[in-house]
Amino acid sequence: MPSEAVTTLQPVPMLDFARQFSQIREEILAAVESVCTSQRFILGPEVSSFERAAAEACSVAHGIGCASGTDALWLALAAAHIGDSTEAVPAATSDAVITSPFSFFATASAILRAGAKPIFADIEPLTFNLSAASVQTAIEANPHLNVKAVLPVHLYGQCADWDSFTALQRNHPGLLLIEDAAQAFGATWNGAPAGSLGDAACFSFYPTKNLSAIGDAGLVTTKSPTLAERASMLRAHGMRRRYFHDEIGWNSRLDTIQAAVLEIKLKHLPAWNQQRRDLAARYNQLFLAAGLLSSSGAIADGLVLPYTHPRAQHVFHQYVIRAPRRDELREFLTQRKIGTEVYYPLPLHLQESLASLGYRAGDFPESERAAAEVLALPMYPELREDEQQTVVEAIRSFYA
Ligand SMILES: *Cc1c(COP(=O)(O)O)cnc(C)c1O
Repeated sequence: MPSEAVTTLQPVPMLDFARQFSQIREEILAAVESVCTSQRFILGPEVSSFERAAAEACSVAHGIGCASGTDALWLALAAAHIGDSTEAVPAATSDAVITSPFSFFATASAILRAGAKPIFADIEPLTFNLSAASVQTAIEANPHLNVKAVLPVHLYGQCADWDSFTALQRNHPGLLLIEDAAQAFGATWNGAPAGSLGDAACFSFYPTKNLSAIGDAGLVTTKSPTLAERASMLRAHGMRRRYFHDEIGWNSRLDTIQAAVLEIKLKHLPAWNQQRRDLAARYNQLFLAAGLLSSSGAIADGLVLPYTHPRAQHVFHQYVIRAPRRDELREFLTQRKIGTEVYYPLPLHLQESLASLGYRAGDFPESERAAAEVLALPMYPELREDEQQTVVEAIRSFYA
């Protein structure tokens, strides 16, 4: 019976972008054609139009489009004069930025690119987001460094606990809060959108993100006219006047085609994010019905489902469980053509390229535990109920 069940199970891909494209194909192709007709491929009128629409969706005055989420992080830091990356002669700086080691690599590498030092602090086990209490400890442990900013990540589509970060900022006047909101367009904290919580925020529109371009693209949002003006100057080689370079800057301009596509998708995003929440709720019900859940919250005892903080509205960029024998489970699902992913298997403080920061295994136990236990299941707005049932049934049979 089990072997027969294996062969009759349908494959469930981790992602299937073709389903969404088929719904909006005409709109997207018309927008691309219109940009081709205009031949204004770089920073064309659609870029300003998308920047305004995105800023409005985030309840802020300014949006600055750029080439990627990684660049958005660099631009926000450089615009705030963190690090020395825009100076022709680097200053002897000891600027530092505190962030989460349980994130995509760019969160830390952008800090280094800006010319500052990343300092890590551990995460909260329930949400996987940076812990403000650990950040406070890290500030106290590094009195010789000039901690200029904290860079919380809204991981998996849920905002970091912004009440705690606001309190932290109150106790450290001058400290900036910059959001890595790459996974969280449309998420809110106490009703306020990601992108409006910090002094600046950074979005990625990489094709797998919940708001996605048809290539690379990114955005900085901010309430501050000063930061906005600096970021837009730095993304175009430090020019305010054409060919007069006030600062070093970089080329991180946004393609017009990407902006035109993003503005169309932005209109659909609230509905897509709601579909993701509905799918998450259905996964929860299916797991509950399958009797697989940990009663103690410890994974030795069973699966742990995603936790949503009561003040957060999650957008489920990812639906991530903690699973006993995670790697074996993943292998079992792969054999049954059920897509899964591990975001992220190795915390940043243990990455070889960051060894010079001097961290060791054991420094951030919650991040290390999460890296060993998390498993992201198929999640995108067009995922079907029968596919979710297939996923949960396969997981049930693994633990049976
Ligand atoms: C995707 C992502 C980035 C980087 O964005 P790119 O557009 O790929 O450069 C940064 N931080 C987080 C948390 C991300 O998920």
